[in-house]
Amino acid sequence: VEELMIRSEKMSVAGQLAAGVAHEIRNPLTSIKGFMQLLQAGVSRKEEYYNIMLDEIEKMEKITSELLFLSKPVTDDRNEESLNSMIEDIVSLLRPQARMKNIEIVIDNPISDYITCDRSQIKQVLINLVKNAIEAMDTPGEIIVSVVSSETKVVISIMDEGPGIPEDILEKLGEPFFTTKKNGTGLGLLITKQILERHNAVLSIFKNSDRGSTFQLSFPK
Ligand code: ADP
Ligand code: MG
Repeated sequence: VEELMIRSEKMSVAGQLAAGVAHEIRNPLTSIKGFMQLLQAGVSRKEEYYNIMLDEIEKMEKITSELLFLSKPVTDDRNEESLNSMIEDIVSLLRPQARMKNIEIVIDNPISDYITCDRSQIKQVLINLVKNAIEAMDTPGEIIVSVVSSETKVVISIMDEGPGIPEDILEKLGEPFFTTKKNGTGLGLLITKQILERHNAVLSIFKNSDRGSTFQLSFPK
């Protein structure tokens, strides 16, 4: 009986994900269909309608490429990777995007330490978290990426000066398609959690004492 229950629970998770995907794709499709019909009827404001349709198509593109990432087989390309070099890579990638919003990404306490990991996957995690930090901040400020190392673990923290995370949505973070953003997919933290699990790393989220939140990754050594 227990086994059956576990199996049916697994089914329902797959079912939930499928329902989520269907929902997320159907909404933009419905909207595109509606605007197509308007255009077919020969209305004015064509430019505006094309733009909305493009937005919807881009949203579907984003969702499908993130879902593909989730469905990728678990590759195990693990090596000793320098934390500094991974952090520097992603910071130089995201710095221009941050500066457009007058946000400076600061690397605090760069230490030369190594972890055994899949470099591209951990970079993906860091990208997801720093991107969320940038997106959360609507006033100028700093995002601080810091690393602390002890004998047993390495902890990477990403601290932002955004509005913080309301208590009531905290437990929803990482649920497929949970997003509070107009153009969000709600898949970033799901992917992040999945990658961290594969690395036996733990994600903790803290409320900063002044403002914003800190996402902390703890890797075993
Ligand atoms: P997306 O970024 O597409 O919305 P994510 O899974 O990356 O999806 O994030 C889910 C939600 O978690 C976001 O929509 C936002 O509400 C919340 N969130 C994540 N990071 C932060 C942050 N640094 N500050 C405030 N809210 C955040
Ligand atoms: Mg995100």
